[in-house]
Parts: sequence; C-alpha cells; structure tokens
Amino acid sequence: MTKIISNCLCVDISSEGKGVIKNGKDIIFCDGIFPGEKADVEILYHRAGVYFGKVRKLYNLSKDRIQPRCKICTSCGGCQYQQYSYEAQLRSKTKRVKEALSRIAKVDTKVLPCIGMDNPYNYRNKIQVPFNKDKNGKVKFGFYKENSHIIMPIKECAIEDKRAAPILWDIKLLLEEMNIPCYNEDSGKGILRYVLIRTSHHYEELMVVLVTTQMNFPGQRNFINELVSRHPEITTIVENVNNRHTNVILGNQEKVLYGPGHIKDDILGLTFEISASSFFQVNPIQVEKLYTCALNLIDFSKKEVVLDAYSGVGTIGLIASKNAKRVISVEINKSAHKNAIENAKRNDVNNVDFVCADAGEYISKSDEDIDILIMDPPRSGSDETFLSTVMNKKIKKIIYISCNPETLARDIEFLSSMYKVDYVQPVDMFPMTAHVETIVGLSLKK
Ligand code: SAH
Repeated sequence: MTKIISNCLCVDISSEGKGVIKNGKDIIFCDGIFPGEKADVEILYHRAGVYFGKVRKLYNLSKDRIQPRCKICTSCGGCQYQQYSYEAQLRSKTKRVKEALSRIAKVDTKVLPCIGMDNPYNYRNKIQVPFNKDKNGKVKFGFYKENSHIIMPIKECAIEDKRAAPILWDIKLLLEEMNIPCYNEDSGKGILRYVLIRTSHHYEELMVVLVTTQMNFPGQRNFINELVSRHPEITTIVENVNNRHTNVILGNQEKVLYGPGHIKDDILGLTFEISASSFFQVNPIQVEKLYTCALNLIDFSKKEVVLDAYSGVGTIGLIASKNAKRVISVEINKSAHKNAIENAKRNDVNNVDFVCADAGEYISKSDEDIDILIMDPPRSGSDETFLSTVMNKKIKKIIYISCNPETLARDIEFLSSMYKVDYVQPVDMFPMTAHVETIVGLSLKK
C-alpha cells in the first residue's frame, strides 16, 4: 500500500543533492525538492536508517526554483540541481563544505564562497552515451534513467559541449541507414554499445570513440567516411572493443580508425595529450581556476621539492614544476603514469620524477625531504598509511584538493593534531550537479 506523508517541509539538501525532510524523528530523502519547499511525499523505501520518497504534490515553491533547461533532468539523475538557481547552487556547495568540516573534522573555519562559472552550461568535455533500439526498431541514444538501464532519449544535454549532440544524431541516422545493429544487453547481440566524445577547449580537435562488441564491424569504412564528411570537426575516431557483460564502458582493445587517435588540450599554458581512456579534468574552464587557486597558496622560490600525490596524467605537478626545484609525481594507474611522462616530454619539463605506485606505499618508503605536498585523491580520500607518514615527515605545507567534502573532512580530522587549516576554497567543477571540489591549505602547527 502506498504511504503518503502530507505537508512535509524540506529543511536541507543532502550530499547527493536530495531534499532532506524531517518527519518527527524520521529523515526522508527526496529528489526535486529544495529547502523551504513543502510537499506531499510518497515513501518508496527505507535503507540504512533513512526513508527515500518521491514528491507527489509540491507547494510553497522556493524563490530559488527555476525552469530547468533539460526536460529529463528529474529522471536522468545526472543533474540534481538544474531546477535550482545557480546562485543557490553555489551557496549550497559552500555550506556543504563548511558543514562537513565542522561536523566531521571539528574545524570551524572560514570557507570562501564557491567559485562558479559565468556560463554554467555546456562545460563537459567528455560525453558518453549508450545506444540501443526502441520497440519499433528505431535507434535510440540518451542517458540511463537513474538506477536503471532504461535509455531515456535526449535531444541535447545541457551540461555537455554543444558539439556533441549533432554528431550523436548523425551517428543514429547512419546506424539506421546502414543497418548497423546496436548492442542488446539481454541477448548480448549487436555491435555498437556506446559512443564517447571528447572535445578540446583550446584546439579545434574532437575525438569520437565507438565502443563496439567486435573489431572491424561490417560497413565500418563507409560509416567512418560518411560520418567525417558530415562532421569535419571530428579530428580522430577510435574503435574500442568491449564484449564483456559489464557496466564499465571501455574495453581493453583499441584501434584508431581515423586521425591520430588522440586530441590535445591546454591547462594554464601546458599542453596535454588525451587518448580515449585517459583521465582528464572534465571542466576545462574551471580547472584553470582550481589549479591557479591551489598553486597561489605556495610561495615558490625555485627551491622547493614538491610531492604531487594522486597525480593522474601529471597536470598540476607539471604546472607547479615551472616554479619549483623539483616535483615528484606519484600515480597508481599505469596508463596515466605513462601519459604523464609523455606530457612532461611534450612540454620540455625536466625537473619532474614520475613514480607509478600507491601513494602511501611510496611515501612510507621514501627518504626524500619534501617541502610541499599537493594531494588530489579520488572520492574515497586518502589513507592512514599516507597521512601518518606525512605527519612523521613533518611536511610543512599541504594543499589538499578533494572532490568529496566528507572524505576530505575525515582526512583533515586525522591530520588535525599536527596541522591547522589556513584556507578553504570550494570550486564549482560540476555545475548543475551536487558535486563540489574543494582546495584546503594546511600548515604544520608550530
Ligand atoms: N591530480 C589529477 C588527478 C586526480 S584524480 C588531476 O587533477 O587531474 C585521482 C587520481 O588518483 C587518479 O588518477 C587515480 O588513478 C589516482 N589514485 C587512486 N588511488 C591511488 C593511490 N592509492 N595511490 C596513488 N594514486 C592513486
């Protein structure tokens, strides 16, 4: 039997961007409702001590509620904030960082207002969409409905680079014209599974990756020729084969079908090569603000030894190397490590050493004297081995860049007996979503 609770007041937003409703002692998480709004809420399920609900009727609309640009934003799950004004999004992200630091790290400190974008739409340089067929045999592409594998067709996405949608539409037409079958998850049959598009912000370069179930699918040459003639902005096409029954998009086998197989882009004057599977920051405009704020915290005098831990393809360490004596970049992923070495060569950088290792394992065995630590771990944060070695080594300054305020706060709590927080700056790398990136400057207590 459906259970509806009427007249619920939304009091906050959760870290996943869901409205938080208090009903007596119970907490209900609910999509599409913002603080100050009221709704009749249908209870869907109970998990880990909280209820999850769905808005049945909304009243008391927030003055921060706006018309979303995308019609499917309420069901796609990618943009939790499209119905929330951009000012309110930034306010909410600043508040989330402040609260995580105070609640988890027990640090009450000034948090600078989250740095936003002038135009917070169409920023994403990496677009990946599943392809499939509808009941009538028409090819469809779009996004998976939240927590499902149902494709919701979409005309264009509000946060992705505008160059992507016209290419996706022509791929759909070509598949239909040439009778190239899309992959069917249930039967495991068909050819095209996903299309991934990567765009360059600084160069007129664009990569299309066709994720298929078999190398050299029938009609491939014609398909490529036709696609490139309709879209001369495509500078390279790569085929990636993934025939495993998995949610992971890319497989291990790759073949360049057109152009050089990679594109390049710049961050703060350095050039980076991006291949189909490389990690690269998805917001090319905000990444420059993020790195500038982070590196401004360091008083460089060309004498510093900097450790860039969790370094990806080496971007921030390579930029820092211009003003430091030496940089050591540590990254666990082999292909990112290889890209980083190539990126150093490409930019004529000679004072960075690249280590492919677990950051904690590296630092606990190393006898280097490190002056400054820049760390940018994945969402799960860092670990005790790494952080306790940093404390043993008494590294004077830490710049912690994080995409998850909760694990950031947990790690700062761990460091807090020896380090004090000097600076907290959230940066909006992912407008329209609930995600937030934060830079924290920490210094060794006297
Ligand atoms: N600093 C980079 C990348 C940040 S993403 C940038 O700004 O682009 C985090 C990186 O940490 C990923 O490249 C991931 O492969 C790496 N990583 C994850 N766990 C790690 C570990 N235990 N040790 C070292 N690197 C790790």
